[in-house]
Amino acid sequence: MSQTDVVIIGGGISGLSALHFLRQLKPQLSVRLFEADNRLGGTIGTDQVDGYSFDWGPNGFLDREPLTLRLADELGLSDQLERAGANVSNRFILRKGRLRKVPMSPPAFLFSDVLSITGRLRVLMEPFASGPPEDVDESIYDFTRRRIGHQAADYLVQPMVSGIYGGLAERLSLKSCFPIMHEMESKYGSLFRAMIAKAREAKATGRKAGGPGGAGGWLTSFKGGLYRIVERCEQVYAEFITMGTSVHAIAANGEGYRVKLDDGESISAGQVILAVPSYRAADIVAGLSEPLAESLASIQYAPISVVCEGYLRSKVRRNLDGFGFLSPPKEGRRILGSIWTSSIFENRAPNGYVQFRTMIGGNGDHDSMKLSDEELIGCVRADLNSIIGLDGPSDKVRVYRWRHGIPQFKVGHSGIMSAIEEHLRTLGNIHITGNAYYGIGLNDCVKQSYRVVDRLRQ
Ligand SMILES: Cc1cc2nc3c(=O)[nH]c(=O)nc-3n(C[C@H](O)[C@H](O)[C@H](O)COP(=O)(O)OP(=O)(O)OC[C@H]3O[C@@H](n4cnc5c(N)ncnc54)[C@H](O)[C@@H]3O)c2cc1C
Repeated sequence: MSQTDVVIIGGGISGLSALHFLRQLKPQLSVRLFEADNRLGGTIGTDQVDGYSFDWGPNGFLDREPLTLRLADELGLSDQLERAGANVSNRFILRKGRLRKVPMSPPAFLFSDVLSITGRLRVLMEPFASGPPEDVDESIYDFTRRRIGHQAADYLVQPMVSGIYGGLAERLSLKSCFPIMHEMESKYGSLFRAMIAKAREAKATGRKAGGPGGAGGWLTSFKGGLYRIVERCEQVYAEFITMGTSVHAIAANGEGYRVKLDDGESISAGQVILAVPSYRAADIVAGLSEPLAESLASIQYAPISVVCEGYLRSKVRRNLDGFGFLSPPKEGRRILGSIWTSSIFENRAPNGYVQFRTMIGGNGDHDSMKLSDEELIGCVRADLNSIIGLDGPSDKVRVYRWRHGIPQFKVGHSGIMSAIEEHLRTLGNIHITGNAYYGIGLNDCVKQSYRVVDRLRQ
């Protein structure tokens, strides 16, 4: 049985960034990373198809997390970062079958048609809304309905929740999904008052204020697609990585652990970083701690499919002057929204062509996973045709399915996390990172991996 200081399980962005920070911060430790698949990246992937660049899962991150920018910089990718075009601020919401521009300032909101006049007036009453119920992990929907009314909850917040989490605002926890919004209400008693205070603070310090969802940031990717960062990690850290090898269990072994691989081999490790989805982590630790496995397994995931389509520009009737649109469930469409990728980043479609990325599924539509590719494409085309107008078939199409797409931070998630942390403390040298715990985005994964590495005992 070979011996190593740290074993990392999983080669998605969480495992790869843990490997990177470990090599940077603790080069004295020996490390090995095992990835079950024959490729790295997990949900990150980019297919280059006849001039199109199709991202399988994520297509960007906000440039507000210094650790992600540091990762890119230390990998020598700073000059490969690609910021989204200025028109990314043009975002649309479907209401009553028509796309309405999401207003980006209070005066624009007053005159916009994104909500009815009653809906807009109700939002303006926000400072007078009742306070939060005591000792309740409030759902996003209850919070927003209480503060800005049901129309804004249905048409502004729910689509955002399905766009980010593939989730239902009634089921997800405000505190776990949007902690900054929760804190703003606790500290200032009102989101409006909080935004005014933050704008003043920003003016005084010269920093950006951000919105109620948190600090701002600009959507960013890499030239040619997000997979660039994965390829770079593979080039730089090849000697530490074993692909096509799955870890199926961890057992206690004196002061450390025995990491059991699916090829029958075992590795002795002082510390283990689990960078796999929580339901896989549950299987791996089941023999070591049943309560930990149970807590990990209780985090559920929403399924999601991404349909990437290329069209001849002249076959699309609408001007694609923005980021794309979200479709509130109240509108009764099957798609969650569509991103106009070729309007956001350069070279995502050949000259004279455009690319859409349309999401379908989420926690409100588990049955979408039962649809064949042809049926999924049919749903997307029917919806896009009636919303933006398409003349004829697409030029290229790719479907990417994620059965366990996005972890759901349901009401009660913070309790699950406290239990997980407690079980991990008892075990000592098992660590977790990934998108199922403290944030679902790439930035959250990188931040969590950094924290884990920083905490590792030498
Ligand atoms: C459709 C979609 C769109 C998204 N869009 C965005 C976006 O635009 N911006 C953003 O910031 N985030 C986005 N996300 C979220 C983001 O993709 C994830 O948070 C992030 O990629 C998760 O990385 P991870 O390394 O934690 O997990 P994963 O990417 O799931 O990687 C886990 C890895 O572990 C491996 N593994 C599993 N079991 C084992 C085992 N037993 N042994 C060894 N290896 C194992 C898997 O093969 C996999 O490679 C999106 C997600 C989806 C699904």
